[in-house]
Amino acid sequence: MRVETCKLLIIGGGPGGYVCGIRAGQLGIDTILVEEDTPGGTCLTVGCIPSKALIHAAEEFHKLRGFAGGTSPLGISAKAPAIDLAATLSWKDGIVERLTRGVAGLLKKAGTRILAGRAEFVDGKTVRVRGPEGVREVHAEAVVIATGSAPVELPFLPFDGKVIGSTEALALDAVPERLVVVGGGYIGLEIGTAFAKLGSQVTVVEATNRILPQYDAALTKPVLASLKALGVTVMIDTRALGLSDDGLQVGRGEDGAEPLDLPADRILVTVGRRPRSDGAGIPDLGLTMDGGFIRIDATCRTSMRGVFAIGDVTGEPMLAHRAMAQGEMVAEIVAGHRRQWDARCIPAVCFTDPEIVTCGLSPEEAKAQGIAIRTGQFPFAANGRAMTMQAESGFVRAVAREDNNILLGLQAVGAGVSELSAAFSTAIEMGARLDDIGAVIHAHPTQSEAVQEACLAALGKALHI
Ligand code: FAD
Ligand code: NAD
Repeated sequence: MRVETCKLLIIGGGPGGYVCGIRAGQLGIDTILVEEDTPGGTCLTVGCIPSKALIHAAEEFHKLRGFAGGTSPLGISAKAPAIDLAATLSWKDGIVERLTRGVAGLLKKAGTRILAGRAEFVDGKTVRVRGPEGVREVHAEAVVIATGSAPVELPFLPFDGKVIGSTEALALDAVPERLVVVGGGYIGLEIGTAFAKLGSQVTVVEATNRILPQYDAALTKPVLASLKALGVTVMIDTRALGLSDDGLQVGRGEDGAEPLDLPADRILVTVGRRPRSDGAGIPDLGLTMDGGFIRIDATCRTSMRGVFAIGDVTGEPMLAHRAMAQGEMVAEIVAGHRRQWDARCIPAVCFTDPEIVTCGLSPEEAKAQGIAIRTGQFPFAANGRAMTMQAESGFVRAVAREDNNILLGLQAVGAGVSELSAAFSTAIEMGARLDDIGAVIHAHPTQSEAVQEACLAALGKALHI
């Protein structure tokens, strides 16, 4: 068997692993990255990027359908549009291919070797890789576990063709006439909204008493209103029970006592993702775990010396940018730099219609921590740019300490607000106060003026409301 040695071995080439590999290579660390599928991982191949491509195509189609009604206040009318889903998906696949090829190129440019194959631990410093070039053993001084996550499958609704997960939903050969989505979280609502805009009759079945339970109700209210306007049926306090003759059987109410059949051509199950910590010989290492997640400290070290873990396999929030930041940090630690996780906030964006963006603490979270706060809110209904874009739904909210006005959180819901996330995290990371943001000249007319106004509102000094 061929045996290789390196200083750093990374298992998994998703955003966590590949960023770690690029930075390690740039820092001159002799690095091998093992990937059993395509470099880029869930994010680039079946996650963030393909889902946003589908969301964009659906939005464009939906817009044209609106014009075809002939009732647009903009005075635009158009013929009823058609969609060739195969062409849409081939455009999406082209983006995925460009990005995944780009990642492989960046790793190569940094001098990091990519080993194609499935890695399995022999011991904490040795990994066996089974791939197209046979079996190899790699010995490393440090190992990074970046194996990511996989969709949770409900035992009574296994993925089988009619019952699908997000990966299959992003590669369907036709727009389903009736789509039932089980789970009203990130994926269910992002992809469910896209299919509603493409013409599916969508029903969302959510077990808790509201959609997107990870966000506060004020932020999700405009999303719920938009789902209703799109004709999406949202069933809260409802659980999937199993397949019925022509769709899904659900149970309504807290104890699921009210059974109901929902006819469906496809059933999309999006009830969360599970860490991939159960394979690759990881259980035999005996690492300290938090449930299925690998426990890490502020330097992403696990309980075993020389073994790091990053990304979805280490816990919430399971977001690509968290994985990337961890990957970069670990490479620098292995290079001998003094680094530790000290981020004040990890922004989160939900690409629903309208979009939601949160950064730092919500008012409830701040209060739960016993912090006295002041808050300010500015509605897009009072923002000129939002009016010119027919995007008046939603608001920006600022949360700051009452004693010194330092920003603790910024949140928004509205069209395209994902692009405000950088302003939000920059302000919070830099320790800005309400008056700092209030004093910054924000270009007019832009939606970002609502950020300045929300901060001024918290000081009782808003200008345009
Ligand atoms: P992954 O991206 O899962 O990569 C892990 C890699 O490890 C995979 O390529 C896998 O093949 C490889 N691997 C696993 N085991 C082995 C082994 N034994 N040997 C070799 N290789 C192995 N996040 C956002 O921040 N924004 C979004 O908009 C967003 N949208 C999403 C939409 C969808 C539909 C989904 C499913 C997820 C989305 N996410 C989003 C989440 C995001 O994709 C993940 O948080 C991110 O990919 C995690 O990165 P990772 O490196 O930890 O793992
Ligand atoms: P999620 O945790 O966002 O949502 C799952 C939903 O399913 C929850 O609302 C939960 O209450 C509900 N649920 C659970 N069991 C159920 C059942 N039996 N019947 C009905 N409802 C049930 O999970 P997800 O949507 O699968 O996404 C997984 C992860 O992927 C997210 O947590 C996030 O970290 C990541 N992601 C991020 C983005 C983004 O950043 N824009 C987009 C997609 C995915």
